[in-house]
Amino acid sequence: MKRAIFPGTFDPFTIGHYSIVLRGLSIFDEIVIGIGHNQSKKTLFTIEKRLDIIHQAFANEPRVKVEVYNSLTVDFALSVEANFVLRGLRTVSDFEYERNIADANRKLTGIETVILFTETEYSFISSTVTRDLISFGKDITAFLPPNVKL
Ligand code: ADP
Repeated sequence: MKRAIFPGTFDPFTIGHYSIVLRGLSIFDEIVIGIGHNQSKKTLFTIEKRLDIIHQAFANEPRVKVEVYNSLTVDFALSVEANFVLRGLRTVSDFEYERNIADANRKLTGIETVILFTETEYSFISSTVTRDLISFGKDITAFLPPNVKL
């Protein structure tokens, strides 16, 4: 059984995240989406709402699970018996950041990181842009996974 975690803040979970998880299912048997919960980090969406969005998105996909964690990401991976971390890469600026974390995680535990390049149509979509649009009252349905209602 090949199991990966897909960690992130997911404030909110976007169609870009959704696409990476769906594509990840062709590599892994099971993906556990890990919502990193940090009390001191202010988010727009509550942890309950972030869970709800992901549950709606994957209601018909039993190979995708979702959990909340507040530990180090690799400790979360070990706790759900995952040997891989799945991440998405949009830009060159994502690259250095992801490489440092991936190197540290591998050194610490041997856990490998698998990076998928974003589909070009989603490369401009981020949780930050989505939150900005919400703050200006715009409809962000197209930024969310299909069948998700806020
Ligand atoms: P973090 O707070 O760890 O950056 P995010 O919730 O922003 O978490 O993102 C989680 C993962 O999803 C990261 O690997 C990020 O690069 C990836 N990601 C975010 N937006 C997109 C997108 N539009 N397309 C592909 N991957 C994305």
